[in-house]
Parts: sequence; C-alpha cells; structure tokens
Amino acid sequence: MAATVIAGDLGGTNLRAAIVDEDGNILLRRQVDTPESATRDEITAIVVELFRTVAREGSERAAALCVATAGLVDADGGRVLLAANIPGFRDIVLTPPLTDALGIPSFIENDASAAALGEFRFGAGRGARHLLHVTVGTGIGGGIVIGGHLHRGEHGFAGEIGHTIIEPAGPRCTCGSRGCLEAVVSGTAFARRARELIAAGKSAQLKALAAESGDATSNQLFEAARAGDPVCEAEIRHGGHMLGLGIGSIVNVLDPTRVTLSGGLLAMGDMLLEPARSALRSLPYGPASGASFALSTLGEDAGLLGAAAVAFERLELASGDEEQGTSRRRPSVPSKMRRR
Ligand SMILES: [Zn+2]
Repeated sequence: MAATVIAGDLGGTNLRAAIVDEDGNILLRRQVDTPESATRDEITAIVVELFRTVAREGSERAAALCVATAGLVDADGGRVLLAANIPGFRDIVLTPPLTDALGIPSFIENDASAAALGEFRFGAGRGARHLLHVTVGTGIGGGIVIGGHLHRGEHGFAGEIGHTIIEPAGPRCTCGSRGCLEAVVSGTAFARRARELIAAGKSAQLKALAAESGDATSNQLFEAARAGDPVCEAEIRHGGHMLGLGIGSIVNVLDPTRVTLSGGLLAMGDMLLEPARSALRSLPYGPASGASFALSTLGEDAGLLGAAAVAFERLELASGDEEQGTSRRRPSVPSKMRRR
C-alpha cells in the first residue's frame, strides 16, 4: 500500500486536515470552523484534536504530517509567528505538540511555498524540473521549486515575488515600499483603483455596483469591465501587463521549466492573462520560457495537497540523509513572511 501523510491547511474560514497518498489522492478529510476568537492554547488544542481525529479515522498509520498556513512561519522551531487571517494565531509553537500527540514527524510551511510544491508534484507543474508558482489573489505570493525541491532561501522568504518593485513611484504597499507588484496588481490593488475611479467620476457603472454593496471590490471592477465599461477593462488589462512584466523579470533570473498560476484573480480570465502573456513574451527570455502560464489544477484542495507535497519532500530528504550516513541538517525555514 502506498505511503500516506497527514496534510493540514489552516485558513481564515476553516481549519482542514486530510490523509493524502503519494499520488495526491485525498483518502479522508475533516474540517472545523476557524475560531473567531481563541487563546493560543485553545487554538493549539483545536488543531491538535483535528489532526488526532484524522489520524484515528485513517485506515493506516501516516508517515508524517505537514501544516500549511499563511503568514510568517518559523519552520525550524515549528512555530507560526503571525497569520494575519486567523485571529489569535500569533507566536504559536505548533509542530512539537503535534509530534507528541501523533507520534510522527511534523512540519510547517508557508502556504504559498507549499502550493508551489503541490503544483509541482500533483498539479499543473507535473513533469517540470524547475517551477515558478505565483498566487494571484488578495495579494501576490510565490514559491520556487528547483530540481524537485522547494527553494526556501537563507532566511526562508524566497519567492516573495509580490514585493518586487515594478513602479518606483507607484502606490504604497503594505510592506512600506512603493510600487510593489502586489500594490499594482492584486485583489487589494484593484479594489483601491476601483474606489479611485469612482471618486474621480470615471465609471458610472462601477459607481452603481459599489453603491449596492457599500464598497468597491476587484470583482465589481471585473463585472463592470465585462459589461463593457472601457475604463474598467483598461484597468484590468494594465494590471495584467504589469503582472506579466513582474513574472517575466523572475523568469529572466530563474529560467523555470514552467510558470504555474493560482488564485482568485484568475477568474478574470483572458482580460488579465492575455496582456500578462504578451508582456512576458516581450522580455528577452520570455519566449524561451514557453511564454505561457499553466493554471492550477488543484482547485480548493491546493492548500492540503501543497502541505502533503511538503510532508513527502521532508520524508525523502530525511531518508536521503540516512542513506548517505551524514548528519546534514534537513533544510529548514527560519522565518517566512507572506501575505496573500
Ligand atoms: Zn511590498
């Protein structure tokens, strides 16, 4: 029987856990609502109980466990430093209690990095040697896979493509810099542009949509564009162009086999992606990259399958160490800052 691992995806809406086999089949899954307010100890207890339940209900013993979560992660210490989307999820030592409760090696990974390895192993990145994965949602996140392994970097924040500066005089980013890619094209950036267009009286259609819900969103910008508003459409096309330039700059550096994309903004389809592809093709090495983006095939389960991929990777690295008889420390992530 194939080996299995336990995968966890801790999000702002729910906490999910599953048993996943080596082919990426989800054999069993459970989830609970993310508590709206809880102490550190309560959250740890909820997470440990969720994983204990999955382990108990599984038909065989899983070989390892990995939890993926947004935010700042200290993989060495098995700690979540800060996950802004989960209230109270701050400075929580997570993997030692999981290892104690379940008796199997436990790991933690930032969710964008985990998503990259998930696409590489189970999704749109299958068959690639080197992969750049970009998440295009509320923010922009990314992960890099080189030769089958996550490239975590010296301090664990490799892949922070969202904070590549693309417009030095551009809008202020949440990180404090100006003109970061995610300050120019992301759900948050499009919502800000939508408010600006309304304030400048440039789109009656958008103004009407926003008035219905009380605030302007990136979805309304897209809705108005799809309904034929040229100003809104130009805004999305400009965002796509900048996205292509941002990704293309990283392609120039990494020369990946493939670029995979996931995230809520991809619902904008070709209005966003066609200018992005064309901007990528315009760069010196863009055409060599295949000049196409492969869209995630993992859907709702991207978080769980990403965590599972990291668990399998960690097991392979550990067994490689044993085979070589070395005392090499397994690659680890001291800290990682990601916003999505
Ligand atoms: Zn930034």
